[in-house]
Amino acid sequence: MAESVHRELDVAIAGAGILGTSVAYLISRFAGLRVGIFDREGMAARHASSRNTGVIHRPFYIDPSRKPFFAEASSRSYGLWESFAREFSMPWHQNGTLEVAGDSRGAVSIRKYAEYAVKNGMSEKEFVVLERDDLRKEYPQINASAGFLSRTDTAVDYGMFASKLLELSQKRGVRFYGNHTITSVTEDRDGVLFTTRTREGVKLFRTGFFMNLTGTGSLKLANTMGLAMDYGLLLFRGDYWRIDESYSPGFGFNLYTVPRYPGFPFLDPHFINRWNGIREIGPNASLILQDRAYSGSGLNLHNLMDALYNGDINSKFRLLANPEFLRMLETEWESSRNRFAMAGRLRRYLPSLSNSYIGERGLGGIRGSVVDLNGFVPEALEFRTEHTMHIVNYNSPGATGSPYVAYSILDRIFRNGYLWKKTVKPLNLTPVRWEELASGIGE
Ligand SMILES: Cc1cc2nc3c(=O)[nH]c(=O)nc-3n(C[C@H](O)[C@H](O)[C@H](O)COP(=O)(O)OP(=O)(O)OC[C@H]3O[C@@H](n4cnc5c(N)ncnc54)[C@H](O)[C@@H]3O)c2cc1C
Repeated sequence: MAESVHRELDVAIAGAGILGTSVAYLISRFAGLRVGIFDREGMAARHASSRNTGVIHRPFYIDPSRKPFFAEASSRSYGLWESFAREFSMPWHQNGTLEVAGDSRGAVSIRKYAEYAVKNGMSEKEFVVLERDDLRKEYPQINASAGFLSRTDTAVDYGMFASKLLELSQKRGVRFYGNHTITSVTEDRDGVLFTTRTREGVKLFRTGFFMNLTGTGSLKLANTMGLAMDYGLLLFRGDYWRIDESYSPGFGFNLYTVPRYPGFPFLDPHFINRWNGIREIGPNASLILQDRAYSGSGLNLHNLMDALYNGDINSKFRLLANPEFLRMLETEWESSRNRFAMAGRLRRYLPSLSNSYIGERGLGGIRGSVVDLNGFVPEALEFRTEHTMHIVNYNSPGATGSPYVAYSILDRIFRNGYLWKKTVKPLNLTPVRWEELASGIGE
């Protein structure tokens, strides 16, 4: 056990994924604060934030009454990412997304998307609904009964974004503590004490405020403080398979399909046109037992016990007793084991995608989905104590929404009088640049 406090900070950010680095970048604007960002890895964004589909999603598919937080965050973050990418010459490939329906149930969802798109602030120029005949005429290679084309969905590299955000934050004085796994957090009257496991041994830190933004690790960390005890965590890996260069689908957008299981928070595999020209199919959602199991399931006794007891156990058992969920798990695992199984799912919509074009495995990513006794929790959850805040269940489109989410986290902390005991200006609701966003926080 560490004996003396290694360093005192004003703000500690746990997790250097896209959300932690977005928060670090915004807070780095306030001079004179001692801010540290901690990650168990030696660099930013080693997990979900660089192992994803790389799409900046426009919020056409998000029901604003079910997921208001994600809808607002993705709507408001688009311009922020665009200005960021342009300012730092990072990839910004506005190739669009076509989401198609295979049957009449799916076609109903497609029509709903037009409503959601407008409610979530998209302009009518950004999208078009395509009926079966329109699709046949414009994209005869696609077999579907209706489609929603979002022209402004954009392919980016979130790993690059996060690394740049960290680099810029460090230039403004934020200190990065890589290879520091946070193992416990305790709060007292003046702030927070937390321990990290490092190569040199255990270290103890003190901070005025602690933000838990550790992705798949965040429920466990919140639980060390007795928070969020009614929720359980299930881990799902999304695998991708590469498409051979010789295959050209005849379109540059991403091809999504209306999810088959609307009750579960997973999209079916897509045909992806990445910003760098790489084409892939994926991701699926295979249940795994460890949050770094990038191959296999991570099955061993230790991981099994950890997976069962990571948060509330009853909610997991209830879900595992649901036959529809079990059926879904089986199909998803098959697509992780067998590239042709995943290709078969896409071929229904894209008949020319024969097995001969399916190549090696791409870079799979892992999400931590939070469940309670009602099943999957649709939105991200926030837990607060006087000196800490914890975000759990921060899943897709979490990377899209992170600039605005970072802003809203900081804004609420400051509004509650923490750190700056002064009133914060009302939100600037249409910020386009990060600097403007930051200036809305503390002045
Ligand atoms: C397969 C897949 C595809 C996706 N596609 C998209 C997409 O196209 N568009 C989109 O908007 N979103 C997408 N998402 C969602 C998006 O990637 C996530 O919402 C986002 O990356 C979450 O960011 P984060 O910073 O919260 O978490 P993470 O990126 O997981 O970062 C958390 C960090 O915390 C660190 N950490 C964990 N535990 C500890 C600890 N105890 N101590 C110290 N550090 C710790 C980890 O090392 C990690 O670096 C996708 C997700 C997946 C899995």
